[in-house]
Amino acid sequence: MYKLTSLAMMAGFISSALFAQDTKGDPKKTEVWEPVPKVVTPGNTSSEAPSDAVVLFNGSSFNEWRSVKDTTQPAGWTMNTDGSFTVKKGTGNIETKRRFTDYQLHIEWRIPEVISGTGQGRGNSGVFLASTGPGDQGYEIQVLDNYNNSTYVNGQAGSIYKQYIPLANACKKPGEWQCYDIIWTAPRFNDDGSLKSPARITALHNGVLVQNNVELKGITVYIGPPSYNKVHGACPIKLQDHGDPSEPISFRNIWVREL
Ligand code: MG
Repeated sequence: MYKLTSLAMMAGFISSALFAQDTKGDPKKTEVWEPVPKVVTPGNTSSEAPSDAVVLFNGSSFNEWRSVKDTTQPAGWTMNTDGSFTVKKGTGNIETKRRFTDYQLHIEWRIPEVISGTGQGRGNSGVFLASTGPGDQGYEIQVLDNYNNSTYVNGQAGSIYKQYIPLANACKKPGEWQCYDIIWTAPRFNDDGSLKSPARITALHNGVLVQNNVELKGITVYIGPPSYNKVHGACPIKLQDHGDPSEPISFRNIWVREL
Protein backbone atom coordinates (compact mmCIF):
# COMPACT_ATOMS: atom_id res chain seq x y z
CA MET A 1 0.00 0.00 0.00
CA TYR A 2 2.73 2.45 0.95
CA LYS A 3 4.36 1.70 -2.39
CA LEU A 4 1.36 3.11 -4.23
CA THR A 5 1.22 6.04 -1.87
CA SER A 6 4.88 6.91 -2.28
CA LEU A 7 4.73 6.47 -6.06
CA ALA A 8 1.73 8.71 -6.23
CA MET A 9 3.48 11.27 -4.07
CA MET A 10 6.58 11.07 -6.23
CA ALA A 11 4.58 11.35 -9.44
CA GLY A 12 2.83 14.37 -8.00
CA PHE A 13 6.10 15.91 -6.94
CA ILE A 14 7.75 15.30 -10.32
CA SER A 15 4.82 16.55 -12.34
CA SER A 16 4.41 19.66 -10.20
CA ALA A 17 8.16 20.34 -10.38
CA LEU A 18 8.11 19.97 -14.14
CA PHE A 19 5.02 22.07 -14.39
CA ALA A 20 6.72 24.81 -12.44
CA GLN A 21 9.80 24.74 -14.66
CA ASP A 22 8.35 23.94 -18.07
CA THR A 23 4.85 24.65 -19.16
CA LYS A 24 5.56 23.85 -22.82
CA GLY A 25 6.20 20.57 -24.55
CA ASP A 26 5.00 17.08 -23.90
CA PRO A 27 5.14 16.08 -20.24
CA LYS A 28 5.11 12.41 -21.25
CA LYS A 29 8.66 12.77 -22.59
CA THR A 30 9.94 13.00 -19.06
CA GLU A 31 7.76 10.33 -17.51
CA VAL A 32 9.67 7.31 -16.22
CA TRP A 33 7.59 4.15 -16.47
CA GLU A 34 10.28 1.53 -16.85
CA PRO A 35 11.93 -0.69 -15.93
CA VAL A 36 9.13 -2.39 -14.08
CA PRO A 37 10.69 -5.83 -13.72
CA LYS A 38 8.76 -8.27 -15.88
CA VAL A 39 7.82 -11.62 -14.42
CA VAL A 40 9.89 -14.43 -15.96
CA THR A 41 9.27 -18.08 -15.12
CA PRO A 42 12.72 -19.60 -14.60
CA GLY A 43 13.94 -23.09 -15.41
CA ASN A 44 15.78 -25.56 -13.23
CA THR A 45 19.06 -24.04 -12.07
CA SER A 46 20.71 -25.94 -9.23
CA SER A 47 24.42 -26.15 -9.93
CA GLU A 48 27.17 -28.39 -8.54
CA ALA A 49 30.41 -26.76 -7.51
CA PRO A 50 33.05 -26.82 -10.26
CA SER A 51 36.46 -28.36 -9.55
CA ASP A 52 38.22 -25.11 -8.65
CA ALA A 53 35.52 -23.71 -6.35
CA VAL A 54 35.86 -22.97 -2.66
CA VAL A 55 32.88 -24.80 -1.18
CA LEU A 56 31.34 -22.63 1.53
CA PHE A 57 28.48 -24.99 2.34
CA ASN A 58 27.59 -28.38 0.97
CA GLY A 59 25.35 -29.65 3.74
CA SER A 60 27.93 -31.32 5.93
CA SER A 61 29.41 -28.58 8.09
CA PHE A 62 29.28 -24.94 9.14
CA ASN A 63 33.06 -24.71 9.39
CA GLU A 64 33.37 -21.92 6.81
CA TRP A 65 30.99 -19.58 8.71
CA ARG A 66 30.97 -17.53 11.90
CA SER A 67 28.75 -15.12 13.80
CA VAL A 68 29.03 -11.45 12.81
CA LYS A 69 28.11 -10.21 16.30
CA ASP A 70 31.04 -12.11 17.77
CA THR A 71 33.43 -13.31 15.10
CA THR A 72 35.07 -15.69 17.58
CA GLN A 73 31.80 -17.64 17.72
CA PRO A 74 30.46 -20.16 15.18
CA ALA A 75 27.41 -19.40 13.06
CA GLY A 76 24.38 -19.89 15.27
CA TRP A 77 21.90 -20.74 12.53
CA THR A 78 20.10 -24.09 12.28
CA MET A 79 21.63 -26.99 10.37
CA ASN A 80 18.99 -29.15 8.70
CA THR A 81 19.11 -32.81 7.76
CA ASP A 82 18.33 -32.13 4.08
CA GLY A 83 21.66 -30.43 3.29
CA SER A 84 20.51 -26.92 4.05
CA PHE A 85 20.58 -24.45 6.93
CA THR A 86 18.01 -21.97 8.16
CA VAL A 87 18.26 -18.50 9.62
CA LYS A 88 17.83 -18.64 13.39
CA LYS A 89 15.96 -15.45 14.12
CA GLY A 90 17.61 -13.19 16.62
CA THR A 91 21.08 -14.71 16.40
CA GLY A 92 22.22 -12.09 13.92
CA ASN A 93 24.02 -12.21 10.62
CA ILE A 94 26.62 -14.80 9.71
CA GLU A 95 29.66 -14.41 7.47
CA THR A 96 32.43 -16.49 5.95
CA LYS A 97 35.68 -16.87 7.81
CA ARG A 98 37.50 -16.45 4.52
CA ARG A 99 37.86 -13.11 2.81
CA PHE A 100 37.40 -12.57 -0.88
CA THR A 101 38.05 -9.82 -3.38
CA ASP A 102 36.70 -10.59 -6.87
CA TYR A 103 34.73 -13.76 -7.31
CA GLN A 104 31.90 -15.79 -8.83
CA LEU A 105 29.34 -16.94 -6.25
CA HIS A 106 26.62 -19.56 -6.41
CA ILE A 107 24.11 -19.65 -3.56
CA GLU A 108 20.71 -21.31 -3.26
CA TRP A 109 17.89 -20.10 -1.04
CA ARG A 110 14.34 -21.09 -0.23
CA ILE A 111 11.41 -19.11 1.05
CA PRO A 112 9.32 -21.32 3.39
CA GLU A 113 6.34 -22.90 1.69
CA VAL A 114 4.12 -21.28 4.29
CA ILE A 115 5.16 -17.65 4.47
CA SER A 116 3.39 -14.71 6.07
CA GLY A 117 3.93 -10.98 5.90
CA THR A 118 3.95 -8.47 3.08
CA GLY A 119 6.35 -6.10 1.36
CA GLN A 120 9.80 -6.13 2.94
CA GLY A 121 8.50 -8.27 5.79
CA ARG A 122 8.07 -11.45 3.80
CA GLY A 123 11.07 -13.77 3.63
CA ASN A 124 13.62 -10.97 3.90
CA SER A 125 17.28 -11.92 4.00
CA GLY A 126 20.17 -10.80 1.88
CA VAL A 127 23.58 -11.65 0.52
CA PHE A 128 26.24 -9.06 1.33
CA LEU A 129 28.93 -9.46 -1.31
CA ALA A 130 31.49 -7.82 0.94
CA SER A 131 30.87 -7.58 4.66
CA THR A 132 32.55 -4.36 5.71
CA GLY A 133 31.65 -4.46 9.37
CA PRO A 134 29.01 -5.37 11.97
CA GLY A 135 25.26 -5.41 11.40
CA ASP A 136 24.23 -4.86 7.80
CA GLN A 137 27.37 -3.03 6.69
CA GLY A 138 28.32 -4.07 3.19
CA TYR A 139 26.83 -4.38 -0.27
CA GLU A 140 23.51 -6.25 -0.35
CA ILE A 141 21.73 -8.11 -3.06
CA GLN A 142 18.25 -8.57 -1.67
CA VAL A 143 16.67 -11.90 -0.82
CA LEU A 144 12.90 -11.58 -0.47
CA ASP A 145 9.70 -13.34 -1.50
CA ASN A 146 8.42 -11.36 -4.46
CA TYR A 147 6.29 -14.12 -5.89
CA ASN A 148 3.03 -12.17 -5.90
CA ASN A 149 4.38 -9.82 -3.26
CA SER A 150 5.15 -6.28 -4.29
CA THR A 151 7.44 -3.77 -2.64
CA TYR A 152 9.56 -0.86 -3.87
CA VAL A 153 11.25 -2.26 -6.96
CA ASN A 154 14.76 -1.28 -5.92
CA GLY A 155 14.21 -3.39 -2.82
CA GLN A 156 12.75 -6.54 -4.31
CA ALA A 157 14.51 -9.87 -4.86
CA GLY A 158 17.38 -9.43 -7.30
CA SER A 159 17.80 -5.74 -6.53
CA ILE A 160 21.00 -4.18 -5.34
CA TYR A 161 19.21 -2.83 -2.33
CA LYS A 162 18.14 0.80 -2.84
CA GLN A 163 20.49 1.11 -5.83
CA TYR A 164 19.44 -1.03 -8.79
CA ILE A 165 16.09 -2.49 -9.81
CA PRO A 166 16.35 -6.07 -11.10
CA LEU A 167 15.96 -6.49 -14.85
CA ALA A 168 13.31 -9.18 -14.27
CA ASN A 169 11.29 -10.76 -11.51
CA ALA A 170 12.44 -14.38 -11.70
CA CYS A 171 11.05 -15.47 -8.32
CA LYS A 172 9.94 -19.02 -7.83
CA LYS A 173 7.05 -19.99 -5.58
CA PRO A 174 7.62 -20.15 -1.84
CA GLY A 175 8.86 -23.62 -0.95
CA GLU A 176 10.95 -24.01 -4.14
CA TRP A 177 14.73 -23.70 -4.16
CA GLN A 178 16.05 -20.62 -5.97
CA CYS A 179 19.57 -19.49 -6.72
CA TYR A 180 21.78 -16.53 -7.34
CA ASP A 181 24.86 -16.66 -9.54
CA ILE A 182 26.80 -13.48 -8.95
CA ILE A 183 29.99 -12.01 -10.37
CA TRP A 184 31.39 -9.54 -7.90
CA THR A 185 34.16 -7.07 -8.58
CA ALA A 186 35.25 -5.38 -5.38
CA PRO A 187 35.80 -1.63 -5.20
CA ARG A 188 39.36 -0.37 -5.16
CA PHE A 189 40.65 2.56 -3.14
CA ASN A 190 43.59 4.91 -3.52
CA ASP A 191 46.18 5.32 -0.77
CA ASP A 192 44.48 8.52 0.39
CA GLY A 193 41.19 6.65 0.87
CA SER A 194 39.48 8.03 -2.21
CA LEU A 195 37.67 5.69 -4.55
CA LYS A 196 39.80 4.32 -7.36
CA SER A 197 37.11 2.15 -8.99
CA PRO A 198 33.59 1.26 -7.83
CA ALA A 199 32.26 -2.22 -7.08
CA ARG A 200 30.50 -3.97 -9.94
CA ILE A 201 27.88 -6.71 -9.94
CA THR A 202 26.49 -9.03 -12.55
CA ALA A 203 23.80 -11.31 -11.15
CA LEU A 204 21.49 -14.04 -12.36
CA HIS A 205 18.44 -15.06 -10.37
CA ASN A 206 17.36 -18.58 -11.23
CA GLY A 207 19.40 -18.33 -14.42
CA VAL A 208 17.78 -15.04 -15.47
CA LEU A 209 19.98 -11.94 -15.74
CA VAL A 210 18.84 -9.42 -13.14
CA GLN A 211 21.93 -7.17 -12.86
CA ASN A 212 24.16 -6.51 -15.83
CA ASN A 213 27.57 -5.28 -14.71
CA VAL A 214 26.18 -2.39 -12.68
CA GLU A 215 28.45 0.06 -10.86
CA LEU A 216 27.58 0.33 -7.20
CA LYS A 217 27.15 3.80 -5.73
CA GLY A 218 28.55 2.75 -2.37
CA ILE A 219 27.76 0.68 0.67
CA THR A 220 24.12 -0.33 1.07
CA VAL A 221 22.17 2.04 3.27
CA TYR A 222 18.54 2.02 4.41
CA ILE A 223 18.20 5.78 4.68
CA GLY A 224 19.85 8.40 2.49
CA PRO A 225 22.20 8.12 -0.47
CA PRO A 226 24.89 5.44 -0.58
CA SER A 227 28.57 6.35 -0.63
CA TYR A 228 31.97 4.72 -0.34
CA ASN A 229 32.59 5.80 3.22
CA LYS A 230 34.73 2.86 4.26
CA VAL A 231 38.05 1.82 2.76
CA HIS A 232 38.45 -1.95 2.66
CA GLY A 233 40.22 -4.78 0.96
CA ALA A 234 39.16 -8.41 0.82
CA CYS A 235 36.03 -9.08 2.90
CA PRO A 236 33.85 -11.94 4.11
CA ILE A 237 30.56 -12.80 2.40
CA LYS A 238 27.64 -12.22 4.78
CA LEU A 239 24.07 -13.52 5.05
CA GLN A 240 21.34 -11.50 6.71
CA ASP A 241 19.15 -12.31 9.70
CA HIS A 242 16.73 -9.54 8.81
CA GLY A 243 14.66 -9.56 11.97
CA ASP A 244 11.22 -9.24 10.39
CA PRO A 245 8.57 -11.55 11.91
CA SER A 246 8.03 -13.73 8.82
CA GLU A 247 9.15 -17.36 8.75
CA PRO A 248 12.93 -17.80 8.33
CA ILE A 249 14.48 -18.72 5.00
CA SER A 250 17.01 -21.45 4.22
CA PHE A 251 20.23 -21.72 2.20
CA ARG A 252 22.18 -24.55 0.63
CA ASN A 253 24.87 -25.33 -1.97
CA ILE A 254 27.11 -22.29 -1.61
CA TRP A 255 30.37 -22.06 -3.50
CA VAL A 256 32.69 -19.39 -4.77
CA ARG A 257 35.36 -19.17 -7.48
CA GLU A 258 37.96 -16.51 -6.86
CA LEU A 259 38.81 -14.44 -9.91
MG1 MG B 1 17.47 -7.92 3.06
